[in-house]
Order: sequence, then structure tokens, then C-alpha cells
Amino acid sequence: MRRDWNSEIDRWTEVFREEPDPPAAFRAALADGWDPDARREVVAAAEAYAAEQNAYVAQIRAAGVDLVRLDFKEGCCSVCARWEGCPFSLNGETEGLPPPPPLPMCPSCRPLLNLLTAYFMQSLGLDVEDLIADARPWESPIGPLSA
Ligand SMILES: [Zn+2]
Repeated sequence: MRRDWNSEIDRWTEVFREEPDPPAAFRAALADGWDPDARREVVAAAEAYAAEQNAYVAQIRAAGVDLVRLDFKEGCCSVCARWEGCPFSLNGETEGLPPPPPLPMCPSCRPLLNLLTAYFMQSLGLDVEDLIADARPWESPIGPLSA
């Protein structure tokens, strides 16, 4: 699915209007309107990140990974934070866990899917039941992504 970043940015701008702490580019746009160069930068960076993450997800999926956790490299906005630390099932092999969101979710945050290997889960003292209890299906805050 090819994402229409300009349409997404318009809709996220409206979502961030109601948020206490929007990402910097959106904060500036809400104050002064979108600067065309700043907007092109947000689009280019989101597109590049999406391509990188799509390739990574295809790779770990092909390797048979199913359980992943959504984490953020360097913090995230208050909207994306609703899904921070949530578990997802990449291949639908784990009943009770939803499929992961498209990455990035909003154009400014940089989410990652970390592998929940058996070893990692054991070190955290977690089992699949704990993950299911933490599950939160992703719902797009801006409506359908394909415009
Ligand atoms: Zn975000």
C-alpha cells in the first residue's frame, strides 16, 4: 500500500491541534501554517523510514518471527504513546494479539518492532498470556491511511 503522506499530514495536523505536545514540525505548522520545505522534509523522512521498516518487517517475517513489541528509538508523541510497549503478532500466529500498525504511524515518530524472543520474554518474566493482557489493537487516529 502506498501512503499518501500529504493527506496524512493534513489529518495529523488536525489531530495534533488537540494534543498538548505535538512533534516539533507539527507544532511549528500549527503556529504558522505549513512551510512547504518543512513539509517536504517530513514527507521525505517518513517515506524513507517506511521503506526501511517495511523491508525489515518483511525480513523478520520471512525468518518466522511472529511476536514483536512496539518501541520507540527516541521518545514519541502522545498519540503514538498509546501503543508504546504493546505486543503484536506479525503473522497472525498468536491468537489474541492484533497485527502491527504500519510504520511509522504518525509521520514524525520513529517506532520499531522489537522481537519478543522466547529468551527475551523469559528474561522479562513474561508469557504469552501476559502479552495478550497488554494487547491494544492499533486504530488509525486519522481514519483510513490510503486516501
Ligand atoms: Zn507519533
